[in-house]
Amino acid sequence: MSTPTTAEQRDAAHAAMIAATHWGAAGLPDAMRRLPGENHNYLCDVGVLKISIEGQADPELEEAVAATLAAANLPVPICKPSLLGKILVAVDLHDRPATARMQALLPGLPWRESQATHTLLRNIGSMVARAHRALKSFDHPRSDRSHQWDLERAGQHRAAVGHVPNQSLRRAIEWALHLHASCDITSCPRGMLHGDANDENILVDGDHITGFLDFGDCLRGPLVIDLAITLAYAVQHEGVGLEDAAAVVAGYDKIRKLDTTEQQALFPLMVARLATSACISATRSATDPDHSTWFSHRHSTEETLMALVDVAPRDAQVALCSTCAIRPECSPDTSARVDHRTTTHTGSLAARRARSLLGTGVLSLSYESPLHIVRGQGQFLYADDGRAYLDLVNNVCHVGHAHPRVVQALSTQAATLNTNTRYLHKTIVEYAERLSATLPDGLDVCCFVNSGSEANELALRMARAVTGRDDIIVIDSAYHGSTGACIEMSPYKFNGPGGQGQRDWVHVVPMPDTYRGEITGDGAGVAYAKDVERVIGKATSSGRSIAAFLAESLLSCGGQIPLADGYLSAAFKHVRAAGGVCIADEVQVGLGRVGEAMWGFELHGVVPDIVVMGKPMGNGHPLAAVVTTRAIAEAFNTGMEFFSTFGGNPVSAAAGMAVLDVIEEEKLQARAATLGRRFMDGLAELRERHTIIGDVRGCGLFLGIELVRDRKTLEPADTEAAMIVNAMKQRGVLLSTDGPLRNVIKIKPPMVVVENDVDMAIRLLDDVLQYHGR
Ligand code: PMP
Repeated sequence: MSTPTTAEQRDAAHAAMIAATHWGAAGLPDAMRRLPGENHNYLCDVGVLKISIEGQADPELEEAVAATLAAANLPVPICKPSLLGKILVAVDLHDRPATARMQALLPGLPWRESQATHTLLRNIGSMVARAHRALKSFDHPRSDRSHQWDLERAGQHRAAVGHVPNQSLRRAIEWALHLHASCDITSCPRGMLHGDANDENILVDGDHITGFLDFGDCLRGPLVIDLAITLAYAVQHEGVGLEDAAAVVAGYDKIRKLDTTEQQALFPLMVARLATSACISATRSATDPDHSTWFSHRHSTEETLMALVDVAPRDAQVALCSTCAIRPECSPDTSARVDHRTTTHTGSLAARRARSLLGTGVLSLSYESPLHIVRGQGQFLYADDGRAYLDLVNNVCHVGHAHPRVVQALSTQAATLNTNTRYLHKTIVEYAERLSATLPDGLDVCCFVNSGSEANELALRMARAVTGRDDIIVIDSAYHGSTGACIEMSPYKFNGPGGQGQRDWVHVVPMPDTYRGEITGDGAGVAYAKDVERVIGKATSSGRSIAAFLAESLLSCGGQIPLADGYLSAAFKHVRAAGGVCIADEVQVGLGRVGEAMWGFELHGVVPDIVVMGKPMGNGHPLAAVVTTRAIAEAFNTGMEFFSTFGGNPVSAAAGMAVLDVIEEEKLQARAATLGRRFMDGLAELRERHTIIGDVRGCGLFLGIELVRDRKTLEPADTEAAMIVNAMKQRGVLLSTDGPLRNVIKIKPPMVVVENDVDMAIRLLDDVLQYHGR
């Protein structure tokens, strides 16, 4: 016998000794063949010796599963008792306590090494379903467990994407894990899983299955996971596409019908398994590149994953499940909501839109190739082709798309009563009280309308009523709404394409922009506020007088610009000294988004006279409000009635109330603060490495990235910004651009995003910037 030199040879010698001592094997190390895979499995003359290190495996649980399957006549390996009659024998491995078992050798070849015929694939699917059926009442105290291959928790590997050197592979892994994160599998039927039904754990002879091996990864979870894992290996076989792999699904479905949620989950889980393998390989090869048995599938896994990136999940679902008892087309899901009698095709829908709505020159469509979104859930939007998008831009769905609490409140109230504010209604009054309670004392009279524009119109009328004056001061590049007066108060519009220019009752002050503006550094806020004083002086000297100063508490269309410190309080002082009132437009930034406070103006230690709010209040339901002081409300009582048919109706109030509940219960304001900091830290780090990023700024989950071609001249990188936004969309992340120079990327997601979303967005931006940045 030669003296073992390498670690692998030493392990083989040790295994030979165990096999000889406990099972009477010949004991020759050269006769011990380590089987592929990550376990210490050796083929020898009496069977397959499996050595499991304590804490890394649960042989008792595994053998309990195997015994249940054996009782149902599935071809699982049976353990041979040791010379002392034991199934599990205590040994050691690498100086750690371990357990050894000797399993009878089963006939056949690994499926991996044989032809994947249609019949074989079908038989494999059937066997997985039969295993699930056999394990239906399986019960073991340790079966509820998790490990690194637990596909339900594939997200655990997201941070490892950084170890992957190949950019295309990294992109594919990100995409797969994103698809997985956006797929809700919580309602999929659960049970005991094999956990690793791969092509080395299934033995075959021709089209027959002769062995189902290795329960080392068994755990409880959604049953569809086992099928998805098998599929992930089926498509790694030469010549096996999704349509061919459908045979596995058909075989499974014949025995246990897949429901709609399972069918939808198959493809995301399948690609997530490939991504998991790729991440684990990448992490391992960084730590132990010489360990050959760890990387047996690496090449085919990576190739398959990269090939599947371009497949639309909806097409994959149809390809895989077309022969299922429940047909994908009939499912009450995304597909059913698309009207098949007309068209599901995005292109022809765009053509019909062009004929029936305002043209895209007026009512533009986002992105180079427009999105046809059919469903939203939480922070995700789903397109008609099944692709999922992380929504980092829709700040209206504040507490997440289709939040069940809001949907429930809306539908319950709609099914009960919907009238208007001229009847007494408890919810309306309670909502007004609750909204006022979120504002500083004194701001306690609410008036409900349907949009931010209406709210700003109303605020203007109130300001005029209380001051008896007409004029208004606004900040350059601001947008305050789409009605006649709002357009005239919005430099973004009246100075933009098609704009009619500035009216005499409107006065514009420069943005207090410490990045691109004329004044930077300490004291900039107070200095910029001097413009307000100057404009008031100019107006007065030409015989005009100021009714109000209307300002966002963080400039949105202006390019996500936080107001310079001290600006708002100094500006308010000037306005009040001149007899005007101060209006805070919180339509974009209010309701906890800035994290540190419920309302943006609170960051500046000021209290406005009128607060305008909208977008997030109804989580997508049209609801907006003006909240003001009793004195202003009384001055507004000119004899003319105010009434809004829909404004503040019971259904809207119920939606608004549910939004406030969710913000409180899910602690979304605190989350905005924490995740906002995480985002800012990530963006600041990107700025260090990508010179195209001129500035990163914002507060909470209202952030901006200003792109410049030159950090000295600040030449705006507008085309680059658009390209980056489109490239991010292709990677499954929705962003937008804004600012007067169109070079600011906006981030303002639903407030239910999680850390993984933030980290993925940063990693993807990093990759995209390498190609589009400079
Ligand atoms: N104010 C601000 C700051 C806005 O961003 C908007 C809408 N983008 C409005 C007012 C107008 O709101 P709406 O579209 O609901 O009329």
